[in-house]
Amino acid sequence: MSHVLHRSLLQDYPVAVKGDGVYIIDADNKRYLDACGGAAVSCLGHSDSEVIQAIQQQVSQLAYAHSSFFTTEPMEALAEFLAKRAPGHLNSVYFVSGGSEAVEAALKLARQYYVEKGEPQRKHIIARRQSYHGNTLGALATGGNLWRRQQFEPLLINIHHLSPCYAYREQHDSEDDDAFVTRLVNELEDKIIELGTDQVMAFIAEPVVGATLGAVPAVGRYFEKMKAICEKYGVLFIADEVMCGMGRTGALFASSQENLVPDLLCIAKGLGAGYQPIGATLVSDDIINTLKSGSGFFQHGHTYIGHATACAAALAVQHRIEDAQLLSNVEAMGTHLHQALLHQFKDHPNIGDIRGKGLFRGLELVKDRNTKEPFDSALKLHAKIKKAAMNEGLMCYPMGGTINGRDGDHILLAPPFIFNEEHIDELVTKLSVAIDHALKVS
Ligand code: PLP
Repeated sequence: MSHVLHRSLLQDYPVAVKGDGVYIIDADNKRYLDACGGAAVSCLGHSDSEVIQAIQQQVSQLAYAHSSFFTTEPMEALAEFLAKRAPGHLNSVYFVSGGSEAVEAALKLARQYYVEKGEPQRKHIIARRQSYHGNTLGALATGGNLWRRQQFEPLLINIHHLSPCYAYREQHDSEDDDAFVTRLVNELEDKIIELGTDQVMAFIAEPVVGATLGAVPAVGRYFEKMKAICEKYGVLFIADEVMCGMGRTGALFASSQENLVPDLLCIAKGLGAGYQPIGATLVSDDIINTLKSGSGFFQHGHTYIGHATACAAALAVQHRIEDAQLLSNVEAMGTHLHQALLHQFKDHPNIGDIRGKGLFRGLELVKDRNTKEPFDSALKLHAKIKKAAMNEGLMCYPMGGTINGRDGDHILLAPPFIFNEEHIDELVTKLSVAIDHALKVS
């Protein structure tokens, strides 16, 4: 009997014992092709010798030093690496242990910025429906995914949710991309005016929506235009790149691909690639200067901020990606994966949409392609696909649940940046078997 409190209390999990490139091997020696990086985490695969060496070296020198006593070389070097490559003037980096913590830090920085700037009335946050920003209570409140929020709603702070830029379901047949984007941008402006033009402190969005929708990029100049509205009313823009950032979409920062310069930018997952738990919030000079000339103190903190071993691991991961020019492979293999998915599934009666960017791809499952009617959530199709895929030796990331008051299933693919064409063939073949098996037993 396992004494571990797993998320699913009713399921038995295989015991993972070893990593080998893009594969995880279990205690029965079964190999699983990792086509989702767990949850878009393991972007370098599971056995990178340079990263392992960097961790060993750091642990033997200094595993950890509390950040209110010391700074450390790996923390300083990682912050410099990120700040030099980030869009705009995001020159300060606050290190945490994961994505939810990065979002919490961004929200609190936004609030403290406005308090110290003399605008404490700015307390509203605007986010989007069908978004996910983490599972701690503040981050959960910020996300608009009903399935994850429902039973915690009485405890959550009040956040205003707008329509996502989700063309497959939200764009009207009569609208081209420009008209769709204009409608969404107007929705944001209307909401700011409704709440009071000096009452909103921040807008938060994922540049490419991950866990809740399955790799949905925005269309047209959506992000540039949303940012322009935020600037008009002094609303800070928080880009949540926890899942889509750090190279996943083919650029180190997904915001850069959208010509978006956020005021706060959250990263995690691919930052440490799973070799160590680490996240970060990148902060603009304007926010930092306001705090410097105010309290001089960020009223926040966790025990493991800037953990030296985690920073050393993340720095080694990022150098590996840059030195081996793996983002070119993300672009090339991303295109190849998209083509392979189209080839395999474009005529499949239950695949409604195939989408994404770089090595961040999603498939949306529907009962009927013409009406886009989703499957009944009681079928738990996504869970059946995951189980069938694991039986085939494939890790993919199917999700479902009640989204926006309706049912829906999608599959998220986020393979390591070292994926090659053979891995893609294996992925598509196994995924096809898993989907068809799950549909047959549904
Ligand atoms: N933000 C986004 C966009 C995410 O996808 C996630 C996790 O999937 C989070 C935040 C929360 O990150 P974590 O699970 O590391 O707390």
